[in-house]
Amino acid sequence: MSTESLRIVWVYPDLLSTYGDRGNALILARRARQRGLPVEVLEVRSDQRLPSAADIYLIGGGEDGPQALGAQRLTADGGLHRAVAQGSVVFGVCAGYQLLGTSFFAKGSKYAGLELIDISSDRGETRAVGELAGDIDPRLGLPPLSGFENHGGRTHLGPGVSPLARVTTGIGNDGATEGAWRGKLLGTYSHGPALARNPALADLLLRWATGMHQLPAIDDTWADRLRSERRAAVAAVRP
Ligand code: GLN
Repeated sequence: MSTESLRIVWVYPDLLSTYGDRGNALILARRARQRGLPVEVLEVRSDQRLPSAADIYLIGGGEDGPQALGAQRLTADGGLHRAVAQGSVVFGVCAGYQLLGTSFFAKGSKYAGLELIDISSDRGETRAVGELAGDIDPRLGLPPLSGFENHGGRTHLGPGVSPLARVTTGIGNDGATEGAWRGKLLGTYSHGPALARNPALADLLLRWATGMHQLPAIDDTWADRLRSERRAAVAAVRP
């Protein structure tokens, strides 16, 4: 941690907040405070400088136009690159995941990404909308991913980048794998918001940010109920 409180930055809420991903900031802050960790959440708009000394950066989903603008502003700002070089945690969802890579498509054109992780995204033939579930990379030691996806792009992973999960329901990157991670950068197509549905994933980000190997257990009854309700809903519609 950079200071005595955990600093979480919600990146560009004016551009990348279309799909309810702000909930991820609320969940992280709450789960940290429940463990007695003081937290500061900073919402940094796209016309502001991005601080580079924070512990966790959250980048949400967005429509094509705001996604392209967000990527251009983040590249010009340079704060996220400096933060990653200093070991900060980055969690990107959907558009916020795609723009961390080398390139992505928006409004029919190819845009340069931030090149923070070796992934590239192109257009899919169909839009992927619906439940998204998968078995998470066993090295991360997490229960299955549960989420909801809504995107047109498809994502390809370069060597040295690991998929976050193997898809069991939905499309994710390409119908086989979902999301990606490398070092303390992690991206997913899961909205939901992802961390409300996947508290163990929230705790992974908190562990990466604090360097703590284990966090005190907290009551996850509601998250567990939500996960099993969604699992039952998927099973009910499966042919
Ligand atoms: N515009 C991107 C796509 O459709 C991302 C959408 C999103 O963030 N939900 O692929």
